[in-house]
Amino acid sequence: MIEADMDSGVYPKRPVEIARARGATIWDSEGKEYLDMGASYGVCNVGHCNPEVVEALRAQAGELIYISSTYPTPRRRELLEKIINISPPGMARVFLANSGTEANEAALRFSMHVTGRERIVSTMRAFHGRTMASLSTTWNKKHSQGNARPGLPVDFVPYGNEEGLKETITGDTAALILEPVQGEGGVHLPPVGFLRAARDICTDRGTLLIMDEIQTGMARTGKIFAVEHSNIVPDIMTVGKSLGGGYPIAAAVLHENMGEMERGLHGSTFGGNPLGCAAGCAAIDQMIELDLAGRARTLGEHFTRRLSSVDIPAFRDVRGLGLMVAVELKGKNTPYLNGMLDRGIAPLPSGNTVIRFLPPLVVEKAQIDRTVDALTEIADGDGDRVPQRAPQAQ
Ligand code: PLP
Repeated sequence: MIEADMDSGVYPKRPVEIARARGATIWDSEGKEYLDMGASYGVCNVGHCNPEVVEALRAQAGELIYISSTYPTPRRRELLEKIINISPPGMARVFLANSGTEANEAALRFSMHVTGRERIVSTMRAFHGRTMASLSTTWNKKHSQGNARPGLPVDFVPYGNEEGLKETITGDTAALILEPVQGEGGVHLPPVGFLRAARDICTDRGTLLIMDEIQTGMARTGKIFAVEHSNIVPDIMTVGKSLGGGYPIAAAVLHENMGEMERGLHGSTFGGNPLGCAAGCAAIDQMIELDLAGRARTLGEHFTRRLSSVDIPAFRDVRGLGLMVAVELKGKNTPYLNGMLDRGIAPLPSGNTVIRFLPPLVVEKAQIDRTVDALTEIADGDGDRVPQRAPQAQ
């Protein structure tokens, strides 16, 4: 039986089985090589199987695979310190989780607990995860199929609309949750001044600002965290995806103003487990040592400049920040995604018309050039002749 016949069915399976990976390259079971221009949904910023992450996991597995977070461990202490050190000033405490949605779940719970309020404000096109509280703040109803709008009382405001925030955030709003750049929604950058305005409105109304850096964090946009582009400090910042260099670990990082959370308020059996902490420490060290923020900045500028200069009539828009880049097409993305895969390049879709690039930040300039050349070649040929078998957005 093939995997798709046994899996639950929720994942749109791609037509290749991946057996191994290194850096920005993945190989299928038959040994065919692909350039992973999506870092598997932005997870492998330090590169697939980064040798330092692999070594940290090996060493940790030989010493302590699991112990509950009620026992302090050296690796957890080290990771908490590293996360606080790379976070904006004033971030002082960390709740460790296993996935992005869990980090947001914790952030939402903490915000309601600290403010004693119940309502949340989120934005149209936002994606914050798929468990019930996070799902309530996720815009696209496709993700909550069959569950109506689940969970929390959430008001949605158009992303980038300062007036909308002023009207919607009230004395009942526990938190505003925002992506510094919307990722799953199609790589949408905020208008200049929007995040600063969001910060000020939240402060004015006694509402907490949760910045979801799950996709934008860990150097993706050319700074370690994308909030640094706007010079704002959130009350809670959530981090996930590439925090563990490919190993599952995530965090809700709390500003010192939040104080200490109450014992027993929240928890997770595997949150902060030793392997996740070891991988996280190695991934943070590698991010700094390899200057991945600098690479994302330089290579991202090169990538968007080249994409903007190819003059392909099928392109409606090219946008990005660092190595978080998107091409919005006038038509469907399927022929392009298939054509790229046939040429050994694997980008990501976003909806039906956007091609999204979140390559590992160790990607080489030549690999970016190859990607632009392949797009040009597909546009020059007849994209519609490519068979319809591309993945849908996750
Ligand atoms: N928040 C953002 C901005 C994301 O991009 C994602 C995943 O794509 C999540 C939250 C959810 O993360 P996870 O899939 O690890 O639960």
